[in-house]
Amino acid sequence: MTSWRTPSEPKAAFLLGIVFFLAAAASVSFARFDGGVAYVWGAAGLLLARLVTLPVRRWALPLFWCGIACVLEIGAVGIGRRAIPALTPVLLLEPVVAALLLRRVLGRGLDIETVRGMVWFIGLAGIVAPFVSGIFAAAVVSIFVGAPYWSNFIHWFVAHGLGAVLVTPVAAAAINPDWLQRLSRWKRKDLVANGSLMLAVTATAFFVFYQKPAPILFLPLLPMVLATVRGGRLAAIASTVIVGSIGAILTAHGRGPINLMPGSIGEKSLLLQGFIACSVLLVLPVASLLTQRRIIAERWRESEARYRTIADSLSDAIIDVGPDGTVRYASSAIAGMTGLSSGAVMGSNARDFVFAEDQPLLALAYRQALEAPGQAVIVQYRGARDTGVGRRWFEASIRAVTADGESLGVVGSIRDISDRKNLELSLTREARLDPLTGLANRRAFVEHLERLCMANGAALPNGRHGSLAILDLDHFKAINDRYGHPVGDQVLQAIAAEAMRFCRAHDLVARIGGEEFCVIFGGATMADAEAAGNRLRRAIRSLRIPLDNGLSISVTASIGLAEIVPAMPALEILKHADTALYEAKRQGRDRLRIAA
Ligand code: GH3
Ligand code: MG
Ligand code: MG
Repeated sequence: MTSWRTPSEPKAAFLLGIVFFLAAAASVSFARFDGGVAYVWGAAGLLLARLVTLPVRRWALPLFWCGIACVLEIGAVGIGRRAIPALTPVLLLEPVVAALLLRRVLGRGLDIETVRGMVWFIGLAGIVAPFVSGIFAAAVVSIFVGAPYWSNFIHWFVAHGLGAVLVTPVAAAAINPDWLQRLSRWKRKDLVANGSLMLAVTATAFFVFYQKPAPILFLPLLPMVLATVRGGRLAAIASTVIVGSIGAILTAHGRGPINLMPGSIGEKSLLLQGFIACSVLLVLPVASLLTQRRIIAERWRESEARYRTIADSLSDAIIDVGPDGTVRYASSAIAGMTGLSSGAVMGSNARDFVFAEDQPLLALAYRQALEAPGQAVIVQYRGARDTGVGRRWFEASIRAVTADGESLGVVGSIRDISDRKNLELSLTREARLDPLTGLANRRAFVEHLERLCMANGAALPNGRHGSLAILDLDHFKAINDRYGHPVGDQVLQAIAAEAMRFCRAHDLVARIGGEEFCVIFGGATMADAEAAGNRLRRAIRSLRIPLDNGLSISVTASIGLAEIVPAMPALEILKHADTALYEAKRQGRDRLRIAA
């Protein structure tokens, strides 16, 4: 089958001329029943099928050979030599008009794959062109044969219109070796199925056109449509040819339902052509629709595969979540985020992959996305799975999908932002911690104190704001000077640890400066705070901080205590405590003083 070679253009034109002559001669020999216009005319369809495949500048050759064929046919078997100069141009005019108009409207010749192309084909080749040629032809035939003009015109118009609609698609399919390729692509089961359907078409056509009593002309349509649905355009054309041939032969032999109609053989021939033309007009659009559907399905599959490949090659996961929260699609990157393959994720609820505390956040983002279609909503959340080193952080950017105003869910991308998030968290943590002692630093302490001053009522422990102590080591410079800075650091760490030991649930210890610490006694009365402060002071005094050389050192601390007054600025409270501390230092150190 692959050995098919397209003949060269001159050869193809010559072959076309021969086939044109045979078709035309057969028409006038066998289908001119009353000496006037032939009742069957398919020759124009042959030429039209060829012209639509060629640019206009290459029409000369096929027109030339078909012109010769016309001359021979009219002279030898047609209405006589004298009519040649008048009738030849009219016969050629018909396919030329159809081809030019089709080209003009569709941009290309024949397009029976689409419904639009099909409708234009029937309108221009089946109605307009035979109408135009019929106007002239009826006059020519009237002059040379003598039949009445209108009867000639009607016969010509119907026979040529039906002929073009019938023959052109079949001829176009035959000219285009594409059908051979289609046939070679058929698998064994296609061959068996299509072959059986062709047999069914043949058997039905034979039965319908052989029997006479029943007017069951509609019956062949059933296997024709079935064959078309299974085998496409090729089967549509093949079944039309089969039904047309069987119908023509048996009807000519006086058999079949067409012969139930009273009337001349010419009129019966037109009825048969009408029937076959109707069949063609039924099955070819069906074939066209099926082809279009197949093309659309193929394109859809292709684009789906392309987008899937793109989605799967991204490190971000792409998701599609339905209105009920069901994951309808997840690209392969989801596996790294959930520990499940994308196939396993699809079908489950998106909520299952989100840490319980963050689920409301996601639900809110979902609602926001639906309320503002076209806008991306970004949300950060923790995954449901605890990886052992904590939960992974994700950032989802979601967008609503709507059709005709109805929400179909959301699509979005998910990115693993754990590294960035952890860095962010550690930076904020570091910004609030003193690196030497691990205590809260001055900034964190002031913020805490500010919040405490502003708070009231039930938010406070024991319903009280509590007290604030500033603690400064005595003669610390001397320790640095004597033992060195690293030992000084060691002492600071020991003091921090000691202060922490004293802390209760609502207390806070911070290092607010070099060797200055702050303690908030949350919810404590001044008396309690004073007692606690003194206990801490004594504990520091009795501390023996071991050194590397086996010796140990001890320090003392002075403390200034102030009450946390509601709504008073934090720095002012600190100043009060500082004044008390100054007083403690002034009075000889290692003591606690309360702000006035
Ligand atoms: P006093 O408070 O009793 O008046 O005497 P002091 O010697 O402790 O005086 P002051 O509080 O002014 O001294 C602070 C000293 O603390 C100065 C500095 O050398 C030391 N210092 C500050 N920050 C650090 C630190 O991070 N490490 C060490 N080792 N020493 C520090
Ligand atoms: Mg100091
Ligand atoms: Mg000091």
